[in-house]
Amino acid sequence: MPLIVRILPDEPAIDREFIYLIPDRLIDSLGGLSIELGTIVRVPLKGRKVRGWVTGIGVDPPLGVELQSVTKISGIGPPSSVLGLADWASVRWVGTRPKFLRTATADRIVSFVPSAVENRPEIAALDSLSVEAFSRKKAIVRMGPNSDDWPLISAAASFGSALILTPTVAQAKRVLLKLKRAGFDAALAQRDWEKSAAGNVTVGSRAAAWAPIPKVDSVLVLDEHDESYQEEAAPTWNARDVAIERARRDGSPWVVASSCPSLEMLTSGAPLLTMTRQAERASWPTIEIADRRVEAPSAGEWCSEPLTRALRLGKRVVCVVNRKGRARFAYCGQCGELARSEVTGQIMGLDKELLIDALSGETRPAVCAECGSTRFRRVKLGVKGIAEELAVVARREVIEVTSEDGPLPEKSDLYVGTEAVLHRVESTDIVAFLDFDQELLAARYRASEQAMALLVKAARLVGRREKNGRIIVQTRVPDHPVLDAAYHSDPGRLARSELEARQMLQQPPISNWAIVSGSSAKEFMSRIGNAEGVEISSTVEGTWRLRSQDRQKLLNLLKDTERPPGRLRIEIDPLRA
Ligand SMILES: [Zn+2]
Repeated sequence: MPLIVRILPDEPAIDREFIYLIPDRLIDSLGGLSIELGTIVRVPLKGRKVRGWVTGIGVDPPLGVELQSVTKISGIGPPSSVLGLADWASVRWVGTRPKFLRTATADRIVSFVPSAVENRPEIAALDSLSVEAFSRKKAIVRMGPNSDDWPLISAAASFGSALILTPTVAQAKRVLLKLKRAGFDAALAQRDWEKSAAGNVTVGSRAAAWAPIPKVDSVLVLDEHDESYQEEAAPTWNARDVAIERARRDGSPWVVASSCPSLEMLTSGAPLLTMTRQAERASWPTIEIADRRVEAPSAGEWCSEPLTRALRLGKRVVCVVNRKGRARFAYCGQCGELARSEVTGQIMGLDKELLIDALSGETRPAVCAECGSTRFRRVKLGVKGIAEELAVVARREVIEVTSEDGPLPEKSDLYVGTEAVLHRVESTDIVAFLDFDQELLAARYRASEQAMALLVKAARLVGRREKNGRIIVQTRVPDHPVLDAAYHSDPGRLARSELEARQMLQQPPISNWAIVSGSSAKEFMSRIGNAEGVEISSTVEGTWRLRSQDRQKLLNLLKDTERPPGRLRIEIDPLRA
């Protein structure tokens, strides 16, 4: 008897299942393979042969239709739990299932999975915070930037088939090494696909959320706030949220850890666990805020007095400057205050004789609200000259880091570069943000959270305050909540003020957003028309923003509207909007 199966072909544009039969001769020649949910096959589709996944076995054949045959059983695919997860994700991020299943599938033919190793080393004395976190079933753990994450990692691994996520592959490899040293036969996703499929502890970055672990016994997401967990292109799925959903489906505990937990997590209903105030504070470096409004006229264009001092003391310094998307700010030539809207408080730029708010279009005469001066200066647009000024002040050579990755141009104790330089230097005495207002005041709803994440990254490079770790922040808004929180080593202070702002402005995670763009977006939006409970706006030509308090209502609307032909991009809760 031939076997009748349901197959999802690997065709994202189709995203539909079809019924095929598996002829006896294929079943007889399977060897060690068996046909399971998720098994990878080749099937004829519209005159071509394509890859597909088995999504149903022994299904009833449709009446009066001659079934086509599967042409090949290729190998082992994702387990049935991950098939279900792909269904869920396709609704959650309005994406097609083949895109998710591709991430869950090995990049080679797999025809054998070893049996699970019963290998659970004894873990010596876990700290009480980690024990409590996992006993709560779900928890957010806030730790200082230089706190040891091993207690959490080993606590997660001791459950068995643990899934541990880190923002980068380099971090995953470090965790893997620690686990191996402790006696765990851990797998690195996707490299050790077979080992994950056997249920070993699995570590990896974004794609690891789709590791082929049949049943996940615990989930740990380190640095959950990190934006690299979210796919930038649509569907904008987030690995943290996928991993949490896996824990939920498998009835297992999940813990997310971060030095600056995201508002998405803080509003998720999971309890927030923190270290003692003293321990958290000790894990931060000293934050020195250089107020550029009140500087001596002798101060340089780019070097505040504290930075000048540090450079002259011969410290190892990494200078960070934002070269992209430089906002056009203006500040008063007399008192140094940034120009702000009197209505919204937004930072304004200088356009000929007028001050202008780039977001609302509001303009007003260029008169300082603080001192009445009419002399305004533009914050410098170009970044040329920074290296020269640093070299003159420091009296030593400056290495400019311009590329995003690869080895550093040469070993130095003074670098200047964009944010990417923070990923490339291993340690330093001081990180100096030359113009932090570009981060603090960027026209994005998550600007504050993103600025905080940068400070956390810098805090790791310079180390704890007791080891003289120091961050210098040059700014004209020294009272900004981000700086207040970092100064007090207490990210909770920022979370409270941010949440209030998001509530007021109805931004995520208080409301849910979808951004629709692409060549067929106009037609798609006209099909949507007006929908109750969903607010639609368009500030950029060809791009629409949909906003709703009710996420399911928003997702259903997007799913149930027929897509016109052409390119359509739907981003759910994008991080950089
Ligand atoms: Zn002024």
